[in-house]
Amino acid sequence: MQIVDIRESTRPIQSNIRNAYIDFSKMTLSLVAVVTDVVRDGKPVVGYGFNSNGRYGQGGLIRERFAPRVLAADPASLRDDARDNLDPHKIWAAMMTNEKPGGHGERSVAVGTIDMAVWDAVAKIEGKPLYQLLAERYGDGQARREVFVYAAGGYYWPGQGLDGLRREMQSYLDRGYSVVKKKIGGASLAEDCARIEAVLKLLGPGQRLAVDANGRFDLPTAIAYAKALSQYDLFWYEEAGDPLDYALQAELADHYAGPMATGENLFSMQDARNLIRYGGMRPDRDWLQFDCALSYGLVEYLRTLDMLEQYGWSASRCIPHGGHQMSLAIAAGLGLGGNESYPDLFQPYGGFPDGVQVRDSIVTLPELPGIGFEGKADLYAEMRALAA
Ligand SMILES: [Mg+2]
Repeated sequence: MQIVDIRESTRPIQSNIRNAYIDFSKMTLSLVAVVTDVVRDGKPVVGYGFNSNGRYGQGGLIRERFAPRVLAADPASLRDDARDNLDPHKIWAAMMTNEKPGGHGERSVAVGTIDMAVWDAVAKIEGKPLYQLLAERYGDGQARREVFVYAAGGYYWPGQGLDGLRREMQSYLDRGYSVVKKKIGGASLAEDCARIEAVLKLLGPGQRLAVDANGRFDLPTAIAYAKALSQYDLFWYEEAGDPLDYALQAELADHYAGPMATGENLFSMQDARNLIRYGGMRPDRDWLQFDCALSYGLVEYLRTLDMLEQYGWSASRCIPHGGHQMSLAIAAGLGLGGNESYPDLFQPYGGFPDGVQVRDSIVTLPELPGIGFEGKADLYAEMRALAA
């Protein structure tokens, strides 16, 4: 049993949207296929992975360092002999051979992308959904297939106006989401408040709005927004300041009593731990958005979950960034609080298997082997073409 090939293709996921920091006109991602010599249903098992939007494809790093290390390793050193399977932890260690600690850069994205494909292959070899495998190996044995999802959108785009924003948000509500998210910090505070109020007027009982500043604000601006946002009873106030400015995040808690969220741009257990140690995040109300597909994958995310437990945080406070099925599987298998979803963006990579409906912001995951990519026809067509 061994990995015989790792293929990468850098794909466009561009659109004309922007947040407070970047536009997405040149956005790409890496699609990876990990090809094994294991045969199931008459075909070689292939695991697939891709990185989340926002950090670009990592083909150079994957081709130059991380894939060659896996392919050069003694296949016996990457196996889980007790389970007659591949061992994601050993494969992760092989990828990270001769990598110094700290300074994670975007190598964490390259590793996380391959790691996703490895877990997909491991669950397919075991013949069960990844969420079930995770519940059995690392959870309480009981997967919870119903997962909370919210609709992320509300970017700034040319010619949008309040009407365009309202139409977009209403379309998410019409598709079964009860929590929607929009961007802030790409306009003046007064304009952002007008945009927020336009959306709030659409919401019915039990429906909520979250806002996301994408790390744009300095401390005075973050506080000014905190004061203005306090009047709205928002689902959360996300990534107000620079993701590595833990002091800013901690001080902001003195000015904002409602829930805050951050963490999508922290790419290691150590960075996440610094947020927990120094960022003033409150385990009774705040949300953690670490995204395994950007941060060394699930092997590292398991370390992050262990760390959170040591600091008194429940996994249910985690709602990862990224809108991919990998985090849906982790949420169902290990009891996360939910997952992001981009109903209209970054297709075909985001979203759910075909036929999965959102009801009251809940999706029920089907019982597909692996992560479940084969259940999403447009995505699987791209994956199959890479593996062919
Ligand atoms: Mg965000």
